[in-house]
Amino acid sequence: MDERLRKKEEQNWLKCWIANDTTRKVLAQLADLGFKAFYNHIRQDIHAKHGILETTTCISCTDLSKQCLLCSEIGNQIWYHHRFKQAPVKGPSWRNTNITKWCTDSWELAKCYMPPTGYKDKASAGETDFNGIIGAIYNCTWMQKYFTDDLSQQNTNICTKARDVVNELRHKHDMNTDDQVMISFFDCLLNLLNDTAHLNNFQPAVDARAYLTRIQLDNLPLSEKDVNDTLNQRYEEQKEGFTTITTITSNDTKHNTHVDINWNPRQDGTKRPRRLPRISSACFTCRLVGWTLVGYGSSTSWNGTLLLGMAFQGNTCH
Ligand SMILES: [Zn+2]
Repeated sequence: MDERLRKKEEQNWLKCWIANDTTRKVLAQLADLGFKAFYNHIRQDIHAKHGILETTTCISCTDLSKQCLLCSEIGNQIWYHHRFKQAPVKGPSWRNTNITKWCTDSWELAKCYMPPTGYKDKASAGETDFNGIIGAIYNCTWMQKYFTDDLSQQNTNICTKARDVVNELRHKHDMNTDDQVMISFFDCLLNLLNDTAHLNNFQPAVDARAYLTRIQLDNLPLSEKDVNDTLNQRYEEQKEGFTTITTITSNDTKHNTHVDINWNPRQDGTKRPRRLPRISSACFTCRLVGWTLVGYGSSTSWNGTLLLGMAFQGNTCH
């Protein structure tokens, strides 16, 4: 294992990410089956109200303002089941969804309940991150049927609590997590995976709880595979945070002032670009995967490729 990850606090940090990834996979399966059922429910309702057979499909409507009766009714139902449909700046994230697939892919319905950016190209539950999946589950009131916990309790229900602790982990600026934070992180996710309405007896959740409990209590050492999978997942997520990716080689310019790159050779003789001293330091994930932050909206990957994007906020990367 990487030498940097042997400290107890770093092991705790890794454990939290393993818990995140493990829980995400369970919730992805729940959301997948939940939104398939949601679509069937919608179609039954439309059949009862308008006589449109459930076997009828439309793949031609592309504009929300000019839809056939079927697509328009599906859209109405998506809106109706949104927890924050009345809020002036919330409601369904229409930009995420491909309307032409509403009748053939229920995940396009789920995407209407996710945050408005970053999910348009997520074709399945398996490709969607924790934040997207928990958003789909929490924001769609239909999904309440899979929970005993009252999801209308905005800041105290098991979904928003899990969302909040995962967001804290995502935005950490170091790789150190103390015991108490790790324990409460696990408790929060285990609490979610324990909900009695569905997850308590849902086999993927049963398996996940057993696995996470052993890791939390140090009864199961972190395997090399767990660690590598976890770090690779962080790298992939980090990479997606960049809105555009451009490759710049050291031949392009010696000193690119726009992104504050110092192309001068390093003392170790390598030619990888580095950031100029006045720029704030890279976030922990960048350092972890070997990136060096070189300026606002840019970063170098481990192989020296320069990634340009506007994903940075201040000195963070997401
Ligand atoms: Zn249509």
